[in-house]
Amino acid sequence: MDRYKTAVEAALALRPDEPVYCFRPKVLSRDAKNFQDLFPGKTAYAVKTNGEPFVLDTLAKAGIDCFDVASPAEFAAVKAAAPQAEMLYMHPIKAQSDIRLALETYGIRTLSLDHEDEVAKILRIVRALDIDPATITLFVRIATKGHAAYELSKKFGAAPGHAVELLQRIDRIGFKCGLCFHVGSQIEEPETYERALASADWIRSRAGVDIVELDVGGGFPAVYGHDPRRKVREMPSLEDLMGQLKSDISEWEFDKQPLVAEPGRVIVAHCISLIVRVLLKKGRRLYIIDGIWASLSDSWTGKITLPARFIPDPARKTRSGDADKIVPFKVCGATCDSVDILSRPFWLPETVDTGDWIEIGHIGAYSLSLRTRFNGFYPDKVIEVDTPFDAGEAPEGFASIETMAD
Ligand SMILES: *Cc1c(COP(=O)(O)O)cnc(C)c1O
Repeated sequence: MDRYKTAVEAALALRPDEPVYCFRPKVLSRDAKNFQDLFPGKTAYAVKTNGEPFVLDTLAKAGIDCFDVASPAEFAAVKAAAPQAEMLYMHPIKAQSDIRLALETYGIRTLSLDHEDEVAKILRIVRALDIDPATITLFVRIATKGHAAYELSKKFGAAPGHAVELLQRIDRIGFKCGLCFHVGSQIEEPETYERALASADWIRSRAGVDIVELDVGGGFPAVYGHDPRRKVREMPSLEDLMGQLKSDISEWEFDKQPLVAEPGRVIVAHCISLIVRVLLKKGRRLYIIDGIWASLSDSWTGKITLPARFIPDPARKTRSGDADKIVPFKVCGATCDSVDILSRPFWLPETVDTGDWIEIGHIGAYSLSLRTRFNGFYPDKVIEVDTPFDAGEAPEGFASIETMAD
């Protein structure tokens, strides 16, 4: 991987027309260690957030030794990066052949489910492979209610009464019982976890079985940008959120058994930024060489305002507009599809123009993992950058930090 001090330096040296991912391994290690230090249990990185080999390698070196996986490709990616790591197969609805592969080839002994037919599927394979059920922990995924940027309980999770039955069934067969939930992604209200813990407590007391582990899922928020016209939205820091979660955990007496968390976004969001070129400026619209079918779909569906740094092309000698005026630009993606327009603007100096570059910050989560080859555009160039995106002075057009707030 080519290495540069800053993304600005890289943009000016490479003058890239294609998108360039700027990876900062030190930021990734720092954020992974920070989460591990704050969470009072096992940290299982959710591979779907960003499963690139360079990410998994860096995480393994940073001491992450447990991964939340959902498919054969993810089993293989983890095995390649961290051969000794533990894998938790936390997808509640799995193909029969994938369950067999997980148990037989990868030695996975932790799975989740939210329905009795999934118990039957797993049991059939456990019997066929002559595995003792007592060596396997089955987590019952419970449905939760909350306000995440992405609500997942519409799709997965057993209602409380159903979860009680599932636990009793699993226990009768001789599997170890766990409880898990995943409250969604980018959770900004700590009460969301508390409600899930309250529900888990109710289920545990009704089921009357031994719960050997509680998995609180992912959803921990990353800091992004914001609309500088509005007041900065109050968002708890990870320290505050974790402090609240810890006190809720002990209040509901879930501190007696081991805990697991499956963070994705909060660990990987800040370690990657993306340099894109402005293909054309049309009034207050910018057409850029990336979009919702490549790196930017998460910001589109999650309505996330991404921080953007202006990198002017020094070759452009004339500019119109006021360089000190930060204004919103509607951002249109590279494909011919008319829905390829971001749901939130980029805040940039009025002088930005065709041929300039923009460094889009904090897009390590759900970017590379969601790229498609639609219309022939597939960003795949990665460089290493030393300086964190938000280090030093707030640069021009950096719609993120407090300096832009009022
Ligand atoms: C996607 C997912 C995660 C990671 O979620 P983040 O919001 O990125 O932390 C964790 N657990 C499960 C089950 C998931 O589906």
